Amino acid sequence: MIVEIINTGSELMLGFVLNTHQQWLCRQLADAGYPVTRQVAVADTGREIQTAVRESLTRADCVIVTGGLGPTSDDLTRDLIAELLGCPLHLDEGIANGLREFFAKRKRPMPESMLVQAQVPAGARVLPNPNGTAPGLAMAVPPNMFRPGGGPAWLIMLPGPPRELRPMFVAEVLPWLRREFPLDAPFVCRTLRTTGMGESYVEEKIRGPLQPLVAAGLELGYCAHYGAVDVRIVTRGAEADALADQAEAVIRRELDAYIFGTHEAELNAVVVQLLTERGATLALAESCTGGYIANQITDVPGASAVLLAGMVTYSNAAKESLLGVRPETLAAHGAVSEATVREMAEGARARTGADYALAVTGIAGPGGGTEAKPVGTVFIALATARHTFVLNPTNRYDRPTFKQLTCRQALELLRRTVLGT
Ligand code: ATP
Ligand code: MG
Repeated sequence: MIVEIINTGSELMLGFVLNTHQQWLCRQLADAGYPVTRQVAVADTGREIQTAVRESLTRADCVIVTGGLGPTSDDLTRDLIAELLGCPLHLDEGIANGLREFFAKRKRPMPESMLVQAQVPAGARVLPNPNGTAPGLAMAVPPNMFRPGGGPAWLIMLPGPPRELRPMFVAEVLPWLRREFPLDAPFVCRTLRTTGMGESYVEEKIRGPLQPLVAAGLELGYCAHYGAVDVRIVTRGAEADALADQAEAVIRRELDAYIFGTHEAELNAVVVQLLTERGATLALAESCTGGYIANQITDVPGASAVLLAGMVTYSNAAKESLLGVRPETLAAHGAVSEATVREMAEGARARTGADYALAVTGIAGPGGGTEAKPVGTVFIALATARHTFVLNPTNRYDRPTFKQLTCRQALELLRRTVLGT
């Protein structure tokens, strides 16, 4: 089974948009047992798209093309591919009515150009788009058309916006792929997400205990992000499930509390869920992260059940007036200190009545460091009813990475404390 991806869009070639479809689709396909063989990005002007599609169809069983299905004059994918495959386009009344309804519901007049999206190449399957106007399309390419002696191939066209493409891929394309191209042998792929331990330590802990399973066919992969390491296990064949279960048990035993979730779990969502389940509330007092932790928490649907308040107390005066940090503490220890972060967390908890309060203060850099408190110095405190916990990591990175990493450490402190691990 050969799968290729063609991402179209001049904005990709000009560097205005990061090609996240490449990563996201490759990951989805790999996890489903269809690793992508080749991926290209091309401008959506001229004949680039046709050239790329024609070339891919000489090799691939399935070609996925993204972008260029919209209503504007630069959206040419549908027309160019229909022309290449010699399929005339016709207006699909079902899609056209759907488009009219889409606009009626939003009380907006529908521009006539929208109807381009209801043009369907003869014989194509329409993939509904509940999150936008352009449906996706799946077309069978006749055998021998581009691959002499080869079997039939499929061409899938997906819309460019990620919030349209991703749900369509999961709801329509994945189940269809599994039906159309059943895997020769069972395939299992699982990801365990860890935080708080570097990549080499993670590997050191599990490599030995997993050795017998690797000898039995287990494939292991590590993917490191700032402050997090994903462990990916892949097994194939009749015993795939049993082998994956054994591997997962070993990894859970060895890494235990460092594992915060599976698959695509995110730490912010895990924390919000944990607090929601316990009916617990949270307050935030942020200095060096400038509201980043509040932003992460509020990215999660349902955060309002958990988050009471987040204060960005950047100046000493704000730390005093909003959180009740004592001037003597600031004078004696400085704004970046264990004593200050404790009072920030305890003050935020007392003033909001939250069950938990997280506070962070630190030196993001590049300036402002001293010998005693170098750039990257961070104090993180978590105030609970019983105790205030403090961490003091050194996160010496550029400012955005510093904020991300500090946020992750703060959320992990909260997660571990709530779980009591
Ligand atoms: P629309 O109806 O919005 O025009 P479309 O199917 O025609 O959708 P494009 O015009 O190619 O798609 O892209 C629309 C937007 O989707 C782009 O401006 C970009 O923000 C995003 N997008 C497109 N391709 C990618 C990609 N490969 N990675 C990330 N984002 C992308
Ligand atoms: Mg477009």
